[in-house]
Amino acid sequence: MPTLPRVSVAVPAPRRVLFDYLWPEGMSLVPGVRVRVPFGSRSVVGIVVALDVQSAIAPDRLRPVTRVLDETPLFGAGLLRLLRWAADYYCHPIGEVMNAALPRTLREGAALPCGARLWSLTTEGRARLEPPGRGPLAARLWAVLRRQTTVAEEGLTPAGRAWFARWHGQGFVVAHEAPLVTPPEAPAAAPTVLNEAQRHAASGIEALAKDPRPVLLHGVTGSGKTEVYLAAIRATLGRGLQSLVLVPEIGLTPQFVRRLECLSATIVLLHSGLSDGERARAWTAAYRGEAAIVVGTRSAVFAPLARPGLIVVDEEHDLSYKQHEGFRYHGRDLAVLRAHYERVPVVLGSATPSLESLHNAALGRYRLLSLPGRALAQKMPGIQILDLRRLPLADGISPPLLERLRAVYAGRDQALLFLNRRGFAPVLTCPSCGWIASCTRCDAYFTWHRGSARLRCHHCQSEQPVASRCPMCACETLKPLGAGTERIEQALKRHFPEAIVERIDRDTTSGKGVLAKRLRSAEDHADFLVGTQMLSKGHDFPRVTLVAVLAIDGALNSADFRAPEHAAQLLIQVAGRAGRGQRPGEVWVQTQRPDDPLFAALRTHDYLRFSVSTLREREAAGYPPFGHLTLLKAQSKRPGEALDFVSAARARVDGRVPDIELFDPVPSLMERRAGWHRAQLLVRATSRGSMRRFLMRWMPELEALGSRVRWHLDVDPQVIET
Ligand code: ADP
Ligand code: ZN
Ligand code: ZN
Repeated sequence: MPTLPRVSVAVPAPRRVLFDYLWPEGMSLVPGVRVRVPFGSRSVVGIVVALDVQSAIAPDRLRPVTRVLDETPLFGAGLLRLLRWAADYYCHPIGEVMNAALPRTLREGAALPCGARLWSLTTEGRARLEPPGRGPLAARLWAVLRRQTTVAEEGLTPAGRAWFARWHGQGFVVAHEAPLVTPPEAPAAAPTVLNEAQRHAASGIEALAKDPRPVLLHGVTGSGKTEVYLAAIRATLGRGLQSLVLVPEIGLTPQFVRRLECLSATIVLLHSGLSDGERARAWTAAYRGEAAIVVGTRSAVFAPLARPGLIVVDEEHDLSYKQHEGFRYHGRDLAVLRAHYERVPVVLGSATPSLESLHNAALGRYRLLSLPGRALAQKMPGIQILDLRRLPLADGISPPLLERLRAVYAGRDQALLFLNRRGFAPVLTCPSCGWIASCTRCDAYFTWHRGSARLRCHHCQSEQPVASRCPMCACETLKPLGAGTERIEQALKRHFPEAIVERIDRDTTSGKGVLAKRLRSAEDHADFLVGTQMLSKGHDFPRVTLVAVLAIDGALNSADFRAPEHAAQLLIQVAGRAGRGQRPGEVWVQTQRPDDPLFAALRTHDYLRFSVSTLREREAAGYPPFGHLTLLKAQSKRPGEALDFVSAARARVDGRVPDIELFDPVPSLMERRAGWHRAQLLVRATSRGSMRRFLMRWMPELEALGSRVRWHLDVDPQVIET
């Protein structure tokens, strides 16, 4: 008796292995299709990953696939390979990794959505002026059909449907499927005339179409990187291929899409703000190749592409490309690998590239292309550093800055005030006894949100009403310390009663599409823009001439080894909002640490020099990109347990492992968070290969420790002190 072929299936379960099944007789075998399979006592939807496997399990103990759900694979070879690699590299269950790449409806086994069914006339039908049938309904439908050329089946009554079925039988009409997304009507606009640096960059990317290699596009803020992406996408469209564009924030997608509209191509969006139905349609439009351009956030790196031609990662340094829970992958890193597997060029663009990418460029793995000046030769903003050790603050603003704001306002220019802290004040304290309002579930203070009269913890989201008196000594004058965006907004309204002040932070922009709307209205109307890093990302405010950085010291003081890099990126990005239009811009920074090397880099607009010296420090300390890190994190509701777990995990490693260094088990910086006690252990390896080999052996040991403790591994963690 011939034995049935076996297949390996990724099933949605928290297991790091594939499961083998027997393939039904007579069905053609393709990897990448969905199947329904028995799993324990349940029936689940899985994805066929490998064919004809040499399973160690005896055939009579293997169960057959119940049903094959797709005729053609949902994942092409390149994407399938990427997902398998990612599961392996990030030590995450393969079934969950595959699921991250699918819209929910498809994960649950639904069929791919299809476009509306449309009826239109055949040649024979067109030749007929009179309706082929009697009665008012037939006459009306025929008239509509002749006028519009197509009629959607969906809008018809049963009687109407019956007429179309009859005419179809008579050969007067044919049915076809409408596209899932409507193509744009406006014709493509003439491309922007690129400046010389842009032309050089665009042709550099074009040259790599045949022999793909990653490109790092380093362009100062306002240098016109987006125009270079547009040129590359236009060329890709010309080849009949699709482009995938990743952006860091869902709020940035509308602005980006508006700029893509000049290409007159079918665009779909993929981000977390979509409903299940919208997502499935967008996904399918990309899958079928109907969408010429796919724009999305992090997880869009897994978008299916029928004809991949180009991948763009905008603001490639942005931390939001790293997934911080569950399947902890890095979207940018996976984009680079995907481009390699799909054999297409990938463009990583930023004014402040990550040190990893700059290092790759220095090693020649990436081609570095630069836009050293602003698009229309505007001057880079002048920099003014205010020494807070010598200046008082009133509501977070020092006297010279207030003077400058007055001048800007008098001149009818826009000022942007940046502060990475929302709420009114980060601390509410009792001046008599020193009590500070603190979260009961975290090692953290409550932030006072004055507008809503609440105390909120920014770490666990718990909140409570503001007490009118001190709970310790009953003193009635509680005092706010420090300032958040709300306090700045109020101070500005007091100083400038007539001015329009727009505050942009997570508190004012929740809800679908609100951020995009507020950014636009702020751009048009505001005299003052106050906001958190939401304001720093990508958005073009042409009228802003003054950017004030009210507080950056928190970022400078952080213990994390990446803190200098992240602080520099944040500062340069915020500063880059100044003077993008006609009028020259300036940046004023308030700091207690005016001598920090970061400010020297800011003054000379020389991020590259700063990055070279920071890379040298990383090399000396053995941190990425020179060493490779994995963080074991554990948390437990009981004090001490998490630390015991990471200590036990360390003890499981006997002796020295070549190329591997284990740090000391330590409590996390914020030991208690949302009621959990947390601890961590950092592992460093000299190469990715040795890290992988180590983790392969260590994982089963960790699993064997099986305890009440929750734990996970974060491979290539972006922030290690949390
Ligand atoms: P970046 O993405 O590098 O910050 P943008 O692509 O947003 O820069 O460009 C900044 C501004 O300059 C935009 O308003 C853009 O329309 C304009 N711009 C860019 N390149 C050109 C060009 N070659 N000619 C005219 N305007 C340009
Ligand atoms: Zn008190
Ligand atoms: Zn809390």
